[in-house]
Amino acid sequence: MAEPLIRLEGIRKSYPAGDTPVEVLHGLTLTIEAGEFVAIMGSSGSGKSTLMHILGCLDRPSEGRYWLAGRDVGALDHQALAWLRREMFGFVFQSYHLIGTANAWENVALPAIYAGLSRDQRQQRAEQLLTDLGLADRLGHRPNQLSGGQQQRVSIARALMNGGRVILADEPTGALDSVSGKAVMAQLADLAARGHTVILITHDAEVAGHADRIIELRDGEIIGDRRQRPARDHRPMPTLTPPRESALPDAAEVRESVVMALRSLRANWLRTLLTLLGIVIGVSAVVAMLAIGQGAKHDVVTRIGDMGTNLLTVRPDRGRRHSADGVTATLVPDDAIALAKLEHVKAAVPEIANSVTARANGKDASTTVRGVSADFPLLKDWQPVSGQFFNRHDALSYAPVAVIGQTVQQSLFADSDPLGQFILLNNVPFQVIGVMDAQGATGWGDDQDDAVFVPLTTGQLRLFGQSFLRSITIAVDDTANMDQVENDATDLLQQRHGEQDYRVFNMASLLDAVSATQNTLTMLLGSIAAISLLVGGIGVMNIMLVSVTERIHEIGIRMATGARQRNILQQFLTEAVVVSALGGIIGVLLGVAVGLLLQLFGMPILFSVPVMIAAFLCAAVIGLVFGFAPALKAARLNPVEALSNE
Ligand code: ADP
Ligand code: MG
Repeated sequence: MAEPLIRLEGIRKSYPAGDTPVEVLHGLTLTIEAGEFVAIMGSSGSGKSTLMHILGCLDRPSEGRYWLAGRDVGALDHQALAWLRREMFGFVFQSYHLIGTANAWENVALPAIYAGLSRDQRQQRAEQLLTDLGLADRLGHRPNQLSGGQQQRVSIARALMNGGRVILADEPTGALDSVSGKAVMAQLADLAARGHTVILITHDAEVAGHADRIIELRDGEIIGDRRQRPARDHRPMPTLTPPRESALPDAAEVRESVVMALRSLRANWLRTLLTLLGIVIGVSAVVAMLAIGQGAKHDVVTRIGDMGTNLLTVRPDRGRRHSADGVTATLVPDDAIALAKLEHVKAAVPEIANSVTARANGKDASTTVRGVSADFPLLKDWQPVSGQFFNRHDALSYAPVAVIGQTVQQSLFADSDPLGQFILLNNVPFQVIGVMDAQGATGWGDDQDDAVFVPLTTGQLRLFGQSFLRSITIAVDDTANMDQVENDATDLLQQRHGEQDYRVFNMASLLDAVSATQNTLTMLLGSIAAISLLVGGIGVMNIMLVSVTERIHEIGIRMATGARQRNILQQFLTEAVVVSALGGIIGVLLGVAVGLLLQLFGMPILFSVPVMIAAFLCAAVIGLVFGFAPALKAARLNPVEALSNE
């Protein structure tokens, strides 16, 4: 004899209730052939729904065995059970169980999502099914815009979406008026006539009368099984081989989850927005704070770099010896001559500077006079554009010559060639022999072109009234030799002075120190931002937990229509990632906006695209991590319990 479609043997089901579980099905044994139209009849509480949940693979019996098309259902895992619900069964419930946020055709198409049909195919088939059931003009209506009879027809269409070889209808007319109820019964009878196996559950003898066979249930036991009409021809047995499914979703599935996620987020847009806020603030803080930090660092580093990274500066140490007029009196020109002889030193240029009033062509200008040695142009390769810089001979002979900067040229010699003319510096005449090339402002904002250069010797004699140096600048041949020269210079000066009344500044090491401080600052800002990102992640987790709790019923519907645990997990994970990625994008944009605004107010800002990408990815990963627990909770729900949660 061929295997029947359904064979139950000694099925028991008990529910935990206090200490002793309550048994509601007491060992049912039963067979149903493919193509039968069976009514399971019994009064309320007799265990009909419990039996239907077991038949439909929504629940497992506590005891007994169930063979579906010859296959032992008890041995199947949840993935195979989901496949059975998807491919074999179509459920019609008393309370319809439609998803409230989806319209009629989307509700009908739901089972096909999990069967892997494309959106177009799904829509086409769903619309055809609804049209066949007389709902052609209600395709886009939501459940709450439909009458009970119409909602029940939508759920019948949904039961047929993936074929619905076995239709399980639990009190399908229970909530309907008699006219709608008759229409629904006619449709079920029609399905039976077309070869579907229909199992109708009802407490109403009149409704049961439509079926070919009536199984009567009382208090969890079968008390009657009679045939009113001869059995129809047995349909060929469906083959039952669960597919080998890959554990990973394909692209179409992910796209579908994203669409569903966006819809459910839109349905709760205010809540979504508030949840996003945590992530938005976190990400924008990361982006903006790091841009500020990097900007400040870059700014300081370029300022220092502008001063020349191959230069060492020797300055008198304040607080040491002072001359009578208060000038720090330690460095002398001979120190510079000695330093210039050190290995790897290109030039060592002594300098004294003073503010003066410069006068020429009947015009006055306040400027700075810098007494330097003839090697000055070597320091930064800063050369005259016209004429020449003074040479060693000029220095030795105390020549009253001057080289002027561009700013001085413009204020005093706007319309005549300065070369050869005389300029009065504090009323002392100097002859202009060169004009320096434009150099621009220093990193600190000083105009380097607003200066007059004279030989240090002449300056000491005629202008400065003292011979102690403000600084000696040493140009090192290669930055690799900075440390060596710095040590040698320190040793040499120690020898010459006998005490440490000077300081040697190394721009490169200053640069390192500043970079290090700024890096620490950047890290600090970054970790504050990271903490807010974490708080945002907890917000996402919280909202996803709320979302799962709110949508338990929807999850039940999805499971009944064949969603795998993986589909549910993926859907909620996608929602979490979409929320946080959305927050990430808004956060990056906001961070950039804040940065640009600060830049507008003159703050140095340096955006970093890798930081933006990293912050965005961080947000998405946080969604993934913090969304996982809620999504897992959703995926592990029991389908029957989830369905009954309305
Ligand atoms: P019917 O559908 O025939 O009205 P049910 O199958 O829904 O009956 O319920 C049968 C019995 O099982 C009832 O007494 C009900 O209280 C009990 N029952 C159903 N579901 C649960 C459950 N989840 N936990 C405990 N008892 C349950
Ligand atoms: Mg019931």
